Amino acid sequence: VNSRRPMVAGNWKMNGDLALVTQMQDAFKQNRFENVDVLVCPPFTLLAGFSSNDVGLGAQTISEHPGGAHTGEISAVMLRDVGCGHVIVGHSERRTDQHESNTLVAAKVNAAFSSGLTAILCVGEPLAVREAGKVFDHVAEQLDAVIGHCGSDVLNNLVIAYEPIWAIGTGNTASPEQVQEVHAFIRSHLAKVDAMAAAKIRILYGGSVNATNAAQIFAQTDVDGGLIGGASLKVTDFLAICQAAN
Ligand code: PEP
Repeated sequence: VNSRRPMVAGNWKMNGDLALVTQMQDAFKQNRFENVDVLVCPPFTLLAGFSSNDVGLGAQTISEHPGGAHTGEISAVMLRDVGCGHVIVGHSERRTDQHESNTLVAAKVNAAFSSGLTAILCVGEPLAVREAGKVFDHVAEQLDAVIGHCGSDVLNNLVIAYEPIWAIGTGNTASPEQVQEVHAFIRSHLAKVDAMAAAKIRILYGGSVNATNAAQIFAQTDVDGGLIGGASLKVTDFLAICQAAN
């Protein structure tokens, strides 16, 4: 148990519709989690449809540009305009599908940070990197790219999500020990930059968290909640995961 307030963020990915927005809003009107920051991150098209004060709102990515001639992109100001306080940056699916590099991810975090949005920075290794024993190096490089670009101040308004790629959408949750080991590494790595900020920063775990395994993972010392994919689309499962963090 630590003094950091837990966060549970649902990443809908390219799923959901207006009916799910209504369902989710109703569920959180009826079920309150006093000790957790609950966040829903639906696709861009559904953001403006969210009118709830009971959950926070986040986007799934952001443009690195402030505005202008960038067809199809969404800026920090636009996200704030529809009520977003958070934005997921550098999710592994975007690093793969949209070829987002550490450099681009850093620029996106900076766009969020400089507009007062809290980025949820996703880091995590593919299976081959874990098998090669290079998890810490891989994650450190991802973190350093962001700190190098944004400056250490970014640690005062940032959430980290550790998401081992082999655990995302696979049902292969990392063990609580594997999760704690990397979370502790991340916190100690950040402490070399700013010890106070590192003690306060929230580090979420993501990768096949469900209603059954959430409590055990959230109980780890350096785990401050979760980033939830598949299970965030089912109201009862997502509520149960929020309860596990409460
Ligand atoms: C995610 O995509 O952030 C994620 C953790 O997905 P899942 O929970 O489905 O593994």
